[in-house]
Amino acid sequence: ERAEWAKMVDAPSKSKDGKDFEIAANIGTPDDVEDAMAQGADGVGLFRSEFLYMSSDHFPSEEEQFKAYKVAVAGMDGKPVVVRTMDIGGDKPLDYMPLPEELNPFLGYRAIRICLEQPDMFKTQLRALIRASEFGPIEIMFPMIATVAELRAAKQIYEEAKAEVQADHPSLGDNVKIGMMIEVPLAAVNADALAKEVDFFSIGTNDLIQYFFAADRGNDAVSYLYQPLNPALLSVIKHVIDAAHRHDAKAAMCGEMAGDQLALPLLMGMGLDEYSMSATSILRTRSMMSKLDTTECAKLVDDALNLDTAEEVEALVKERLNLK
Ligand code: PEP
Ligand code: MG
Repeated sequence: ERAEWAKMVDAPSKSKDGKDFEIAANIGTPDDVEDAMAQGADGVGLFRSEFLYMSSDHFPSEEEQFKAYKVAVAGMDGKPVVVRTMDIGGDKPLDYMPLPEELNPFLGYRAIRICLEQPDMFKTQLRALIRASEFGPIEIMFPMIATVAELRAAKQIYEEAKAEVQADHPSLGDNVKIGMMIEVPLAAVNADALAKEVDFFSIGTNDLIQYFFAADRGNDAVSYLYQPLNPALLSVIKHVIDAAHRHDAKAAMCGEMAGDQLALPLLMGMGLDEYSMSATSILRTRSMMSKLDTTECAKLVDDALNLDTAEEVEALVKERLNLK
């Protein structure tokens, strides 16, 4: 199997019937880019920018951030890099940014919620990203968006940051694509309204599943509720993908589910465009993708959505894939 996967490094990400997809890498630091390239990633689908903040003893300056993004985008050699803006707060505290103790950190003051309250800090990151876009295709995505108003507010701050950069670098940032994560249930349900305002969605299934099932993603006692194959969840994911496509936005996924072998035929059947995962899963996924027919995958989705439990879907997928 490994020899077969190795041949997929330079192969396109295509289904058996020739449909094009993208398989990208999730990275945590600019150094991870090397491995993503070695594993044949079509791009970076999620650059978790938190490391910049969490590995520092002070708020990273625009210059420090710019250097890190530049290394990542230059290292990807023209392939797109999706950088997620700061996703700290809640359970990811920073020594130099005291935040109030919270009873429910996962439902608290975090990510885009902090950024919208502290636009100067947010703009520092956005300016650094726009400047780095001079060195390759950077895309920006906002985490934890729940409402259209939050998305518009984030985009407004982006426009201000862009105007500041353009005072010195005319037109820089005009081609930067803007997207958002779908990880809050309301955003998933309201995907049509949100899709009109972005270039792409990236479905963050780790949080989306946690919030849909009301089950802490880090608590083993409730881990049985991590059910990516639950048909009710699948129908929501299909709704998000369809909404993106109705409004000419790209549909990506960057949670663990994107690299899940049993989920792959279902996601291909729904027409998910981009699959972002840990670099070590890329070649296995590309190889499996090349053996799947999208028409058959679409039939599988129809059948799965008529079932009632995650176990039933799992059994169906295994039967179709001849796994057992
Ligand atoms: C997610 O929530 O699925 C996601 C990709 O983001 P993180 O795991 O960093 O919360
Ligand atoms: Mg998340």
